[in-house]
Amino acid sequence: MIVGVLALQGDFEEHIVSLENHKVKSKEIRTIAELKEVDALILPGGESTVIAKLMKSSGLDEAIISRVQDGMPVWGTCSGAILLANQVKSPVLLDTQLSLLDIDIERNAYGRQSDSFKTNLEVPGGSQKVYFIRAPKIHRKGKGIKVLSKYKTDPVMLRSKNVLVTTFHSELTESNRVLEYFLGMT
Ligand code: GLN
Repeated sequence: MIVGVLALQGDFEEHIVSLENHKVKSKEIRTIAELKEVDALILPGGESTVIAKLMKSSGLDEAIISRVQDGMPVWGTCSGAILLANQVKSPVLLDTQLSLLDIDIERNAYGRQSDSFKTNLEVPGGSQKVYFIRAPKIHRKGKGIKVLSKYKTDPVMLRSKNVLVTTFHSELTESNRVLEYFLGMT
């Protein structure tokens, strides 16, 4: 099994290292041809406006939509979660949206870069150190979407079928229980 990491912008290298730590084969994805070679996909954190622009110009947006609709597991972290959402609250429009999960999400909802924080969260499998970095907030979720973790009252890890989103980063520490959970979806 090969897990792809969308490598247009953002912290894709950290996800590649995390996959290596978990002894999983990985591949950086920048083209439609590369996407064909993987069995699952991670959308990293970064700047969703920039990633959306590059996804659209490369045609990867349509290609990802069709693979996920065919059942490929996908995990969006932070800006990846924004890109997967049906509704995005943002001062600027994204060039494209994958609209693969029925949630409303608000960009930069915890404040500015200086309001970023780390905390320990209960996720499937146990406690996990995570980072909220200019993180979004999920304000609404559609039917059939499971909340797998909360920070205070905010749902921060959600899943529906083959689509997983987290509004935080778990790939910056050596053990990554969210990745372990995602690998269980493959
Ligand atoms: N604030 C970023 C955005 O809206 C997301 C931040 C992140 O991915 N850590 O795209």
